Amino acid sequence: MSFSYDFPPYRPPSEAFSMLLRVTRGCPWNKCTFCSMYKMIRFERRKVDEIKRDIDTAYSIYGKAIPRVFIGDSNSLIIKTKDFQDVLLYLYKKFPNLERVTSYARAKTLFKKPIDELKILRKAGLTRLHIGLETGDAELLAEIKKGATPKEMIEGVKKAKQAGFETSVYLLLGIGGNEKWQSHAKGSAYVLNKMDPDFIRVRTLIPQPYSPIYDQMEKGEFVLASPETVLKEEYMIIERLNVHSLYLSDHVSNYLSVEGKLPEDKKRMLSSIKEVLDRLKEDEELKRNFEMKRYLRNL
Ligand code: SF4
Repeated sequence: MSFSYDFPPYRPPSEAFSMLLRVTRGCPWNKCTFCSMYKMIRFERRKVDEIKRDIDTAYSIYGKAIPRVFIGDSNSLIIKTKDFQDVLLYLYKKFPNLERVTSYARAKTLFKKPIDELKILRKAGLTRLHIGLETGDAELLAEIKKGATPKEMIEGVKKAKQAGFETSVYLLLGIGGNEKWQSHAKGSAYVLNKMDPDFIRVRTLIPQPYSPIYDQMEKGEFVLASPETVLKEEYMIIERLNVHSLYLSDHVSNYLSVEGKLPEDKKRMLSSIKEVLDRLKEDEELKRNFEMKRYLRNL
C-alpha cells in the first residue's frame, strides 16, 4: 500500500513524539539572517482538503489513539482562521484522544491577529504556540531582520496568553556576536520579563550554510561569540529574569544544559554556569570541546 503525506521538515525537539501535520509550506517572512530553514522553499498555503487527506492517511496508519500533534511549517497562524479552525475540528474528530496540538507562530502575526480569532483557534483545540523571540534588543532585532519590535513581541505573546495558549518562547544565545552580548542579554531579559511565558527555550547561534549570517561570518562582517561570552550572556539573562517560566536548554547547539523552574531554581542555574566559566579558565579539554561545537553544521 502506498501513502501520500506531506511532512513539515522542522519541528521543536519537544515535539519529537508528536504526529506531524503540515498546513503551510515554508516561511511567509523568510528574511531572518540567522535562519536557513526554509530559504529553499517557496511559501504556500496548503488547501484544506489536501490537509484533511493527510489527516485521513495518518488515521489509517495510527488509528484514533494519537495524543499529540505538531502543526507546521513556520507560522501556521498565517492561514485563514476559518480554515485553521476547520482543520483543527477535523483533527479532533479523527483523533478524540488528543491532549496537545501545537504550532510555530510568529509574534508579529500574533500581534496583528484579532484576539477573538486567537480565541477561536484555542477553542478549536490548538493548545501551545512556539514563538521565536531570539533577542529582546531593538537594534539587534532590526539587524537580524526579525521583522518585529520588542513591543510587538511582548504584545503578541501577551495576546496569545490572554487567548488561553501555553507559550513557548525561543531565545538565541550568541546572536549579538562578541560585541553586543550585553545589550542582547539586557534587552532579552527585559522582554522575557514582560512576556512571562510558560517556557523559555534557549538555542545557541551556530551559523548554518545558506543563512545570511553565515555569509557575513565568512566575509568577516560578523564575529561569532566565544563560548565564554555566550555563557556570560546566559548568566546575565538568567540573573535578570523575574518570570515564572520553565527554562530549558533542549537543543544540541547549547554549550551547557541549564534547566530549571524560575524563580525557584535560579540560584542553582546561575552557579552551574559560574562553575563552568571558572573551569574554562584552565581546562584546555573543555575549551577544545566547546570550540568544536562552534563548527557544527546541518543542525
Ligand atoms: S526564524 Fe522563523 S520567521 Fe525567521 S525566517 Fe526562519 S522560519 Fe521564518
